[in-house]
Amino acid sequence: MHGLEVRNLVKKYQNTLVVDDISFQVADGEFFVLLGPSGGGKSTILRLISGLEAPDAGQVFMSGRDITTATPRERNLGMVFQDYGIYPNMNVFDNIAYGLQARKMGRAEIEKRIKITADKLGLAEYLPKLAIDLSGGEQQRVALARAMVKDADTYLFDEPLANLDPKLRYRARRDIQSLHRQKQKPSIYVTHDQSEAFAMADRIAVIAKGRLQQVGTPDEILQSPANTFMARFIGTPPMNVLEGECVYEDDRYQVKVADLRFSLDPTWKHVLQATDASHLLVGLNPAAFIPAWELADYPDAMVHHAQIEDVEPLIGEVVLTLRLTDGSYLRVLCEDSGVALPEVGHIFAFALDEARICLFDILTEKALQPAF
Ligand code: ADP
Repeated sequence: MHGLEVRNLVKKYQNTLVVDDISFQVADGEFFVLLGPSGGGKSTILRLISGLEAPDAGQVFMSGRDITTATPRERNLGMVFQDYGIYPNMNVFDNIAYGLQARKMGRAEIEKRIKITADKLGLAEYLPKLAIDLSGGEQQRVALARAMVKDADTYLFDEPLANLDPKLRYRARRDIQSLHRQKQKPSIYVTHDQSEAFAMADRIAVIAKGRLQQVGTPDEILQSPANTFMARFIGTPPMNVLEGECVYEDDRYQVKVADLRFSLDPTWKHVLQATDASHLLVGLNPAAFIPAWELADYPDAMVHHAQIEDVEPLIGEVVLTLRLTDGSYLRVLCEDSGVALPEVGHIFAFALDEARICLFDILTEKALQPAF
């Protein structure tokens, strides 16, 4: 197998399980993001892959070869970490050359590679300067250049953009992705920032409390969260997760949430027959609602009403918080289409794209899967 694989990785610190049986594979050319709240174990997973830490159990494979006990150098990795690891009193050229010199590469080859990489990252004019005289963004690019100047078998990034302001971040993301595309190796990128993960990832693995919550493409993770943790974590605003009840009426399953009632697609029938459908958790994606001003385009849609509790205008979008009859709240994300915004206290008419309803078992909090 090409690419990188971690299999059943476990790491404990003072008897606390920090990495709890983590497995995933990253293909050559794939940009794989580890996303999750701080303290969840993402950096530890990266350190286990890099060989800076040894796992208590599990294995790491690169191109099918078991490298679990290999030294960091034997693993031939390109790494960019948050603190950059730049030597402040060395010039930029020597900082970038550091890993290559350690590998006893010839001077002419080193110069050629550094020139190409520095040109690509806009660092050519900085090569003679001391690293200490560079701004944060420039130092970040030096760290990136040092990782990318070698032909590594896998590239690891641990929150490398955390210290940059938003404008530099955008540029640095593009630099990282363009170098990734050129290398066609597995890249693993750690972040706690969802927008960064969604902008960059081919696939995302969400890690929380040391456990792998879900692996998927950004769209899979957004549309079909594997459990209620995922539903409540992903998206701005995240999915509404409300207690509900399914009933079989009029020849189909319907789901009731407070006084709202939605029809479920027949594909749910099989799983609902096998479950206690009288009490479950219902996931309603804030972006799956049809607001009052678009209802004319959906003449067959079932129209609901609820009182507006809050109106939060964003850039090009608006988030409405609706209060349901049982006192729970529903957050609805609407495109700002230029119509006058609804007002707090008014009754809001809306419909739901019922194909986007998610259901979760009330006890396990895992997603129920419709049978297609
Ligand atoms: P993340 O990258 O998701 O923020 P980390 O992998 O850095 O999470 O940390 C996971 C947990 O392990 C945290 O509770 C952290 O305090 C703990 N931890 C990390 N490194 C060590 C260490 N060397 N010794 C003890 N605990 C550690």
